[in-house]
Amino acid sequence: MSVAEARTLSVRNPRTGAVDFTFEAASAAEIQAKAQALRQAQKGWSARPLSERIEVMRRWSASLKRHAAEIGAADGADTGGCHTSQFTAFINAASIDGWCDDVTDILERNLVDGRSLVMPEVEIRSQLVPYPLVGVISPWNAPMMLSLIDAIPALLAGSAILLKPSEVSPRFVAPLMKTVREVPELAAVFDVVLGDGVTGQEVISNVDLICFTGSVATGRKVAEACGRRLIPAFLELGGKDPVIVTATADIDRATTSVLRGGVYATGQVCYSIERVYVHESIHDEFVAELVRKAEEVMLNDQDPLNGHIGPFIFAPQAEIVARHLDDAVTRGARILTGGKPMEIGGGQYMRPTVLTDVNHDMLIMREETFGPTLPVMKYRDIEEAIELANDTIYGLNAAVIAGSEEEALPIAERLNAGGVSIQDTFLTFAKLRKIGTHSFGVSGIGGSRTGPESIMRFLRRKALMTNHGAPASITQSRPADVAAAAPSTR
Ligand code: NAD
Repeated sequence: MSVAEARTLSVRNPRTGAVDFTFEAASAAEIQAKAQALRQAQKGWSARPLSERIEVMRRWSASLKRHAAEIGAADGADTGGCHTSQFTAFINAASIDGWCDDVTDILERNLVDGRSLVMPEVEIRSQLVPYPLVGVISPWNAPMMLSLIDAIPALLAGSAILLKPSEVSPRFVAPLMKTVREVPELAAVFDVVLGDGVTGQEVISNVDLICFTGSVATGRKVAEACGRRLIPAFLELGGKDPVIVTATADIDRATTSVLRGGVYATGQVCYSIERVYVHESIHDEFVAELVRKAEEVMLNDQDPLNGHIGPFIFAPQAEIVARHLDDAVTRGARILTGGKPMEIGGGQYMRPTVLTDVNHDMLIMREETFGPTLPVMKYRDIEEAIELANDTIYGLNAAVIAGSEEEALPIAERLNAGGVSIQDTFLTFAKLRKIGTHSFGVSGIGGSRTGPESIMRFLRRKALMTNHGAPASITQSRPADVAAAAPSTR
């Protein structure tokens, strides 16, 4: 398939299964033209004082809030109407506002000014120079939030953005671009191309840096393409997040947090809890309570806003989840509640599903499932629990729930993951703008998207060095002069 061809792509509605949305995938010429226009506009954007970029971004935030209902409806149509859709505009507006509050101090902290340590006559100043055009390639889960999470700091850094959202969930783009057009200075440096993986590859050919969120398999292709062009690639990929529940944990607290962490948004969250390790002494009581609570969860099949979890956004995901469950049952797992995906009104739904008698030979304990499944495995001692939790190729997030924070903390410190929730699950959002973290294993590469330093991904630091002394002469300087100028090692 060539990107040069005009292609019409069809989009399935996750609630009805009907194809009720189509769009034209961007051609190579369109992508190149947009990239060129963005590059041109970026020069003026980055030349503006930061205070002006902040003022523009604040107007965008206000525009997002004005269009919150429309954005919520489109995001709901893309995703099947889970609750988060209704907050989408506000979540993104809050991200913009927070960055606008913090960015001046963050960038100032990253400027270096002063005398050289090794050549005291040399004064050093630093300059932060944005990558001109940042490409953002985003997935179908939380489509708008994951399209803007990197774009917001990149814009404040002075870059322009070319966004390529998922072909599975493109409905949010029209209301999003309405908000962008209300802020003309922003509209010059933020544009979108619709399309699939072929389009994504063409975007990579036209930008200076890529922020990609998606699966490990696609992440590899993106990294290869960026490697060929020698442009930076920041990859946020899949996970298989574990939780360890110790013998002293409060069962009520542990089951409430494990259930939410596993089934929120039908498990279609990169940092969903996908493996549960429970001490053998409380295993049966924990499982009984988890099953009881899981059975209280309601599907939203009758009304998108009434119910706790929605349909699968991407129908093939339901097949992956069913395959993992079949594999587990064939290998001896027992499903205690829930079961396979089922079709309701054309949508693919699934009840929270709790399994026991699982082990690490099963796909459900090894590969990303991305569904509302909670496989629970017993452990004998904490060394075994840590070994099991770390027995994975992934390392996005993890969680520990114990009788006290003092007990949980040393366990958390030994888990290979970029973030560990303690005494709860799903605390990943707490990191935003506060602390940058790294993914372990195949869950991602590149600098963090969460901490204050995440904006530095979009800035190249340049050193401006002035010699206030006499220039060194090639004919008069001797080795002894160099030795005298060198810093003491004593
Ligand atoms: P995906 O990898 O199938 O697609 C992601 C994006 O890449 C889409 O826009 C797609 O069109 C594009 N794409 C596909 N092939 C491409 C190619 N060859 N070159 C360039 N672009 C290409 O992912 P998905 O199924 O949309 O999303 C679900 C995955 O995303 C899960 O694995 C989930 O864990 C992961 N995810 C990770 C995070 C994180 O922050 N770590 C967050 C959300 C989702």
